[in-house]
Amino acid sequence: MALTMAALAAAFQALEQTRRRGEMVAVLGRLLASADMQEIARVVYLCQGRLRPPFEPLEFGLQATLMSRALAEATGCPLEEVQARYQRLGDLGTVAGELLPPVGAGLRVLEVYDRLYAIAALSGSGAQGGKVARLAELLRQLSALEGRYTLRIVQGQLRLGVGDATILDALAASAGDPGLRALLERCYNLGSDLGLAAQLLREQGAEGLRRFSVCPGRPVRPALAQRLTSPEEVLRRIGRCQVEPKYDGFRLQVHRLGDTVRLFSRSLEDVSGQFPEVAQAVPRQLQAREAILEGEAVGYLPETGEFLPFQVTSQRRRKHNIAAMQETIPLRLFVFDLLYADGEAYLECPLSVRREALERCLRATEGETLCLSPALVTADAARFQEFFDEMVAEGLEGVVAKRLDSPYTAGARSYNWIKLKRGYRAELADTVDCVLVGYLLGRGQRARFGIGSLLGAVYNPERDRFETVAKIGSGLSDEGWRRMKEALDAVAVPHRPARVESVLVPDVWCEPRYVVAVQADEITRSPQHTAGRDGSATGYALRFPRVVGWIREDKRPEDATTVGEILDLFRLRRHETTRPEPPLPVE
Ligand code: AMP
Repeated sequence: MALTMAALAAAFQALEQTRRRGEMVAVLGRLLASADMQEIARVVYLCQGRLRPPFEPLEFGLQATLMSRALAEATGCPLEEVQARYQRLGDLGTVAGELLPPVGAGLRVLEVYDRLYAIAALSGSGAQGGKVARLAELLRQLSALEGRYTLRIVQGQLRLGVGDATILDALAASAGDPGLRALLERCYNLGSDLGLAAQLLREQGAEGLRRFSVCPGRPVRPALAQRLTSPEEVLRRIGRCQVEPKYDGFRLQVHRLGDTVRLFSRSLEDVSGQFPEVAQAVPRQLQAREAILEGEAVGYLPETGEFLPFQVTSQRRRKHNIAAMQETIPLRLFVFDLLYADGEAYLECPLSVRREALERCLRATEGETLCLSPALVTADAARFQEFFDEMVAEGLEGVVAKRLDSPYTAGARSYNWIKLKRGYRAELADTVDCVLVGYLLGRGQRARFGIGSLLGAVYNPERDRFETVAKIGSGLSDEGWRRMKEALDAVAVPHRPARVESVLVPDVWCEPRYVVAVQADEITRSPQHTAGRDGSATGYALRFPRVVGWIREDKRPEDATTVGEILDLFRLRRHETTRPEPPLPVE
């Protein structure tokens, strides 16, 4: 029996009404189990509040005013009234819930999906009018509850509190076999597409998931690095290893399919249009017709050989004025990994084999945009330290040491890659990436901006929750605070978001969307914060936290530092201060 929109909306309502993860998994699991082969992928995307996987840019392109017009047309309610309600309630979905009738025309999920897809796909002159008319027509057939979630999807604000990890659990539950979780996760890590993983599972079972492999055009979830504080520690842990410079730019995954080149950011966004010089260099410099490469793009001045700091490089992440920016901030892409080339997947191969294949594939001529990242293979701590010092002297962040026999661990942070950054002794050697979940108004001086401090959280992947770790009141300029308030107000919500766990109650709660790097002096235990509480009353907190730079557009909330890393940092720091300090480089 085909899944109805009413059943989907009822499941969304049940999800919205609970904060208990187990219950969410059960509700979602039942919903997914009731979807058939044609429906399953689309239902997964709808649960994510979208129509396609995140790396496919398909936007509805409808402003709230136009959506209000569609709702007015559909319900016969005057536009001013719709707008007044929107002003009051802050969410068009809720307004639709008030204005539409309790029972709709009984549309199937697939029909609603197809009609939404047609609205998003409309483009060209007159598209806006067509979108409004079609949306009004759709809303006319929906019940209050169906309309509520449909409009939230169109507005990009479904906010069910369901993260990717929860969907993976629910998919395993829907198949009645928790053992499938690992296979599903592998497929998700290699293809970044939960809808596809769900479909493969439904069509081909465990075997289909097992057979799935990377293919150019689909971003692979990036491998991430752990951290340690000295060459000795690294060598003790992984032995003779490959040490590479750690560039402070942004990560790019380059996909070549013959004459087409697609570039993906670390958060799997398609950024192909933003870096024309990289896209043009690929066919020139790459021997393989089909390939997936990874590297870090950094602003680089060829005349002086100087690397530009992250704040400057990051100005290249823009959608307009690209040609002018290309002139002022030229980029180099330092390629450090090869995941696929001409029919061969390299992910499972040891690093040493991937590196050899990369060297064969890439024509890295002097002065070209794609450069092969230098690599030193060593087991000698002194040589390692020397390389580190050279890199820091060149203006880089430090190094990444990689285990020679390790595969590419897609989507996971592991000790196969270990970063070692320059830092001050008095501070934590590394910054912590916090997700902002709210802000406090503050007193005194700052009160005039209407924002005094930020509530920052880290991610707990096991529980798919954001747990608070810091109240951050410094690091931004006056202008920075104003812009931060603007950014956060755009994602403000009336209640604590479902995935956020906090003892502190900020003046304004925000949807966990923005990640900032935070520098702190140390990590302490604190009853004020929920990070790492794990049943006890005391969590972990950052001491003297301050924002470094600006919002990290390249990181999704789930890419923030994890609770496990905070625990590691806490232990590392203690360990560091109870024994003679290793020779840490001075900046
Ligand atoms: P972090 O963002 O501090 O966890 O550091 C990991 C990031 O360093 C990666 O996501 C890359 O964007 C960046 N990076 C720079 N150079 C390298 C390299 N040689 N190998 C791997 N990652 C690198």
